[in-house]
Amino acid sequence: MAEIISGKAIAEEIGRELLDRVRDLKRRGIIPGLGVVLVGDDPASKVYVRNKKRTGEKLGIEVTIEHLPAHVKPEEVVALINRWNENSEIDGMIIQLPLPPSFDKQKLLDLVDPMKDVDGFSSYNLGRLFSGEPQFIPATPQGILEILRRTRTRVRGRHCVIVGRSTIVGRPMAALLLMKRDDDFGDGTVTVCHSRTENLPQITRSADILIVAVGRPRFIKPEMVKPGAVVIDVGSNRVEDKWVGDVDEGVREVAAKITPVPGGVGPLTVIMLMKNTIQAAEWRLKRS
Ligand code: NAP
Repeated sequence: MAEIISGKAIAEEIGRELLDRVRDLKRRGIIPGLGVVLVGDDPASKVYVRNKKRTGEKLGIEVTIEHLPAHVKPEEVVALINRWNENSEIDGMIIQLPLPPSFDKQKLLDLVDPMKDVDGFSSYNLGRLFSGEPQFIPATPQGILEILRRTRTRVRGRHCVIVGRSTIVGRPMAALLLMKRDDDFGDGTVTVCHSRTENLPQITRSADILIVAVGRPRFIKPEMVKPGAVVIDVGSNRVEDKWVGDVDEGVREVAAKITPVPGGVGPLTVIMLMKNTIQAAEWRLKRS
């Protein structure tokens, strides 16, 4: 049976490390500030934003939420982003996704000052990551790398298969695992799969590290996994009042290590966003 990796425990460990950094900032007169733009009433988004506020405040980060109605004019969101770009007490800013369909998502994300873009979704920060010189790394892939690092799962030279090519998970994950590094947690041999991939089970079965971000409950079955693989389940699907991953429970019989849902990748995502915010506040200190 696979070892179940507790993302919750890893996130708590990182949280303790971050508390020290926040205390240090406070001694020097800086309270890290995170601004969250929430447009509309998507119930999942509201839960995510609430979690971010709770986690941020536990760490001593000032979290400001601007909740705007779904019918708000894009110009008003632009004005808010510009105001926060100029506000020295807002170190990091995120625009909660998804936005209502009438918005040009990437255009708004690209208005966020790259030094405050703690989600790392702007073209600038994605470009930095893909060029191998990241500034802010999107929270979910960064959290997954932290899971691999803290469970001493070597990436270097191994076959890492990512199922899903979204801008928030699959693509930045691939760039991160591909990075040249001095430690064991880069230099992977990376394959990215998507809905047009042929022979998917054959590819997933060749993975030493399998990362799944598809958004389909229990999509990866035991016969799609190589015995002894490390499986990271990013999926977060609501099924009959329960949170279910993209990986079938039966995979636990085959894998060496696996993240559960809930309590796996999710807690890491939130804590890495806070880590990026604290990093931005430390840059403010350096500039002052
Ligand atoms: P997304 O933008 O919908 O992307 C899904 C990806 O899966 C796409 O690249 C899609 O391929 C691929 N896909 C769909 N059906 C497939 C199939 N039959 N075979 C192979 N690939 C297939 O999703 P996302 O935003 O990356 O999120 C994925 C999941 O992770 C969701 O459940 C989401 O809730 C969860 N999530 C969790 C966290 C967390 O912190 N725990 C964070 C982010 C996301 P195409 O590109 O060809 O359409």
